[in-house]
Amino acid sequence: MTIHSTPPASQTAETTSPEAVGRVTPMMEQYLEIKAANPGLLLFYRMGDFYELFFEDAEIASRALGITLTKRGKHAGEDIPMCGVPVERSDDYLHRLIALGHRVAVCEQTENPAEARKRGNKSVVRRDVVRLVTPGTLTEDNLLDAKANNYLLAIARARASSSAGDRVGLAWIDISTAEFSVTECGAAELGATLARINPNEVIVTDALYSDPELSSLFRTLAAVTPVTRDIFDAATAERRLCDYFAVATMDGFGAMSRLEATAAAAAVTYVDRTQVGKHLPLSPPAREAAGTTMAIDPATRANLELTRTLAGERRGSLLDAIDCTVTAAGSRSLAQRLSAPLTDSTTISHRLDAAAMFAEDSAARDDLRGILRAAPDISRALARLSVGRGGPRDLAALRDGILAADKILDRLARIEKLPRDIALAVDALRRPSRDLAQEFSRGLADELPLFKRDGGFVRASYEAALDETRNLRDASRLVVAAMQARYADDTGIKGLKIRHNNVLGYFVEVTAQHGDKLMTAPLNTTFIHRQTLAGQVRFTTTELGEIEAKIANAGDRALGLELEIFDKLCAQAVTAGDDLRSAAHAFALLDVTTALAKLAVDENYTRPVVDNSLKFSIEGGRHPVVEQALKRDGQPFIANACDLSPGPSQSSGQIWLLTGPNMAGKSTFLRQNALIALMAQIGSFVPAKLAHIGIVDRLFSRVGAADDLARGRSTFMVEMVETAAILNQAGERALVILDEIGRGTSTFDGLSIAWASIEHLHESNRCRALFATHYHELTALSANLPRLFNATVRVKEWQGDVVFLHEVLPGSADRSYGIQVAKLAGLPAAVVARAKSVLAKLEAQDRGTTARALADDLPLFAVPSRAAVEPQPPSAADQLAEALSAIHPDEMSPREALDALYALKAKLPK
Ligand code: ATP
Repeated sequence: MTIHSTPPASQTAETTSPEAVGRVTPMMEQYLEIKAANPGLLLFYRMGDFYELFFEDAEIASRALGITLTKRGKHAGEDIPMCGVPVERSDDYLHRLIALGHRVAVCEQTENPAEARKRGNKSVVRRDVVRLVTPGTLTEDNLLDAKANNYLLAIARARASSSAGDRVGLAWIDISTAEFSVTECGAAELGATLARINPNEVIVTDALYSDPELSSLFRTLAAVTPVTRDIFDAATAERRLCDYFAVATMDGFGAMSRLEATAAAAAVTYVDRTQVGKHLPLSPPAREAAGTTMAIDPATRANLELTRTLAGERRGSLLDAIDCTVTAAGSRSLAQRLSAPLTDSTTISHRLDAAAMFAEDSAARDDLRGILRAAPDISRALARLSVGRGGPRDLAALRDGILAADKILDRLARIEKLPRDIALAVDALRRPSRDLAQEFSRGLADELPLFKRDGGFVRASYEAALDETRNLRDASRLVVAAMQARYADDTGIKGLKIRHNNVLGYFVEVTAQHGDKLMTAPLNTTFIHRQTLAGQVRFTTTELGEIEAKIANAGDRALGLELEIFDKLCAQAVTAGDDLRSAAHAFALLDVTTALAKLAVDENYTRPVVDNSLKFSIEGGRHPVVEQALKRDGQPFIANACDLSPGPSQSSGQIWLLTGPNMAGKSTFLRQNALIALMAQIGSFVPAKLAHIGIVDRLFSRVGAADDLARGRSTFMVEMVETAAILNQAGERALVILDEIGRGTSTFDGLSIAWASIEHLHESNRCRALFATHYHELTALSANLPRLFNATVRVKEWQGDVVFLHEVLPGSADRSYGIQVAKLAGLPAAVVARAKSVLAKLEAQDRGTTARALADDLPLFAVPSRAAVEPQPPSAADQLAEALSAIHPDEMSPREALDALYALKAKLPK
């Protein structure tokens, strides 16, 4: 770990230290002023080659980064805690601080110490905050995940008379790719929408930040930043948006609601403030109309492990299993698709047409993937250049991007008829100016440094003035080489060298044994001693000093000219930004489409039929993730059919009630059907032989159980909250996956809840649903519910053990084989034997009441009225019946029988 010390005196004009006597130094005064102007942020205060942190910031950073806390002078009589990070490695430290949820203000020196000294010996070097680094406003490659978007999201809320009617406007921006979207929804859908967008930073007003209704939701987000109210001022929103995009009216952006505009203005204002004076070009806000994507609530998203597993890993998620993209932008785009499956069957068909073409034309697919693999991440390079954080390699990335676009166009030209989406991509690829690429090719050298400050990136003969200055610089270098030979000759010291470093500049170096010779007459008149090290002695000469000045001047001038050229090329790139970004989108689209085509071919997927019916018919369906895992172990996956389509005389979809032993594959079956629908609606082929999906507008899944202790909910409470959300919200276009409802409570409570839930799904929600359970009693419901279908997962019993066949068939299971599975899991033999005998007893007792009788005794309620579900006092008839059933005549004396008769009579209504 590098531990900072105070920078060398030569670098700052502020090292004399009146702090020692307790006064506030001018430098500390400056620090405190800047710090006060940036509340809530850690201040990285530039001093020479380090960013310094002071006071509490230093304590926080030293703890977070594990760097040593030192002190510097005193403030109000107390030591000032300090720690520092070297500027060269500051990105690493920033990354770690941001990941921990901190925000950082980067304060640079805006003049050099020499300039400050001109204003007086004790003048403080001028400094300014040049940027606020926050989790949602990053542009640096090493601070970003190449395969994921990095969104800043603003939430504006409009209150209604009851909180159920509240509306929210959302605007989200990825400044590293210039994407900008807005939408409006009901406050109840906020959680689902946030889970879909998965922002890295959310900004809200102070009032919203401290609203108790939202606090549990905010706790689930990466970073929530409260901001001042003016940022969310609705009255000035439109003007701020127009200013940002330098337009007179917002009409060109399409109709935006007031809430959307407020959120959008908040987002751009925040971005503007974090970039401190640098304007970041953004795409105009794209409005996402309500209902255009499949609604998936956070619990379902997590349960289905779409982009992350329940353990938070990408590996093992659906995204990981289906991501065959070859570019980072393609991977980001696939993640976006997966987070927001579409509900418009026409758009889905366009996507499927494109994937189908590349599934068939393997040569085109492979060629394009080859070109794309070498193509750069245009959007992110452009974003860095736009805010002045780009380097020569970013310019080269744009040039290479345009060249790659040409190669792609050439290859696509060989295809006879292009599907609509690909034809649109072709238009986009044609947009960037080819002259720009030519200009960059002429201007940029073959080998490029990472930073523009290193120079040497402009190609020789690009600009005459630069060539001239470089020649001068290089000629001077030759003079130095000649001088070294002459000095070696004159002194007779063969090993004499002229070297260069940043502290001494050019110097003559000899080994220690020759040092004295140069320090005695007559040579000491030429050689002036500078430094003695353990093995070497260093000198300078007047002549060397003069040459050095010439070289430095020529070098500085050459670098200055190069930087001017860089700025010119950079400005050209930024001007062409819109065209370059559309080409970048086309790259991502081609990457995703060819990747999905490759997946379809490699994994033997089929093109689904997606339409506006309520069908849900899958033949030979497989689970995309489990199948791949089994394949790696050389195991086959057993394909299964599922049909939730309405029957011939039915208007709503079916519910499948799935029973079967533990470990049989019920959860896998449930999930695979949800995933197939989801994949179909992102425009992907699906793991099945045949699939016909009527658009699913909402996907719900309750799978497994977990405590949510952070939100103060027990396992059973989580289960019930999720079930409630489904029963309250699922409409007829929803697809509901319910796995093991009511497992977290007593058997009868659980069974009753599961029973009532199925009835509600069937009668009230009328949606397509899959329900897995170990309550075999529930299968009796199919007698009364015409759209309930019983299915089971087949197993074989063999020598007392159970063999899993993973085959889903009509019918119901009679037992769960839980004890056999427990035995497989290694439960001690004594426990297994004892469990078997307990089970035999329980089953014998239970035989009296069959499930069928239960179903007959509990006639289906339509949708029960409130009065029907509220507890009512027992009627007289009930009381009589209860008293009668307590009477056992055979065990009574005549006197007791007479008394009982009187007691019964007394219960009659008056
Ligand atoms: P439980 O009731 O104990 O929760 P379950 O019936 O839900 O069990 P799953 O968790 O779906 O069972 O499956 C258990 C294991 O069986 C899976 O991890 C998988 O390896 C395997 N499996 C499931 N379905 C199939 C299938 N169709 N083909 C092959 N293997 C399968």
